[in-house]
Amino acid sequence: MRDYVLGLDIGGTKIAVGILDGNDKLIGRTQFSAKAGESPEMVFTLLMSSIDELLKRYDLAKDDISSIGVGVPGIISSDARSVLFAPNISILNSFDIYGSLKAEFPDAFIVIENDANCAGYAEYKAGSGLGRKNMIYCTISTGVGGAIIINGDLFRGSNMVAGEIGHMIIHPGGRLCGCGNKGCAEAYAGGANYPRYIKECLDNGRKSIISELAKEHGKIDGEVLSKAIDMADPFALEVFNEITETIGLLFFNIYKLLNIDCYVLGGGFTNVGEKLFNGIREHFEKYRVGTDTHDRVDFIPAHFPSSEIGIYGAALVAKYYKP
Ligand SMILES: [Zn+2]
Repeated sequence: MRDYVLGLDIGGTKIAVGILDGNDKLIGRTQFSAKAGESPEMVFTLLMSSIDELLKRYDLAKDDISSIGVGVPGIISSDARSVLFAPNISILNSFDIYGSLKAEFPDAFIVIENDANCAGYAEYKAGSGLGRKNMIYCTISTGVGGAIIINGDLFRGSNMVAGEIGHMIIHPGGRLCGCGNKGCAEAYAGGANYPRYIKECLDNGRKSIISELAKEHGKIDGEVLSKAIDMADPFALEVFNEITETIGLLFFNIYKLLNIDCYVLGGGFTNVGEKLFNGIREHFEKYRVGTDTHDRVDFIPAHFPSSEIGIYGAALVAKYYKP
């Protein structure tokens, strides 16, 4: 058996597969769309044909695969073999993906892991967190997710749900989050939430250049917000300040609890660029007092593009898995 690893990234609309060689290099990848309404069995058949095609492309056989990592947007069982909660993804609900893969690859070691943990592990192992002892990964896109690396390994917590930093409550009694609580970081910084808040304010008569920019662009998103900030629009600056304050405060609380000095940020919202990192640092530093101020703390953009990080991270988690 040769030492190749498969990384699978299972999303709501697409499934990506990649192959890692013995030197942890991603040598190939492919992806396909999973349409709503398709049966899990059908999706699994498509998945297997993608894997077969990829193996053929690199002249590999099934028994060249030593491990398989499966990254999923959900909650995983403590033995890393089943998915406990992954709404809206048929192949992950009432379908034994572990058992089905095991039947195809009987000799491979197979692990299922949360997708944010996969991404964080990739950044730690080979990306922006390379060489660090402890690291926090935070993704800001539709939601706010995270991963915690402590002493060189993923920290999963008592029930495998550590790192859900988007649901840390930063503004008690604040805006309603998708999880049902009020004031979560995600309710302020998540791409599904701040555009809704902006729209509400504009509908209520708040004046902002965002109205015109959103008309041209077709929607309110990070790109529109970023443009409005560059034009020094007061409302855009106010919303952006709220986002950077939320993330800065979130990181400060983690720093006080775990003394972690490396925060790697990924996800679409980081396209906003340097002003995001500067804003987060500014709010973070505001709370640092006394001897805290002697420590160096880094806020760094993620290294891997979103098209790669999921498969790469899933493969690395499987290869270096420590139960
Ligand atoms: Zn929440």
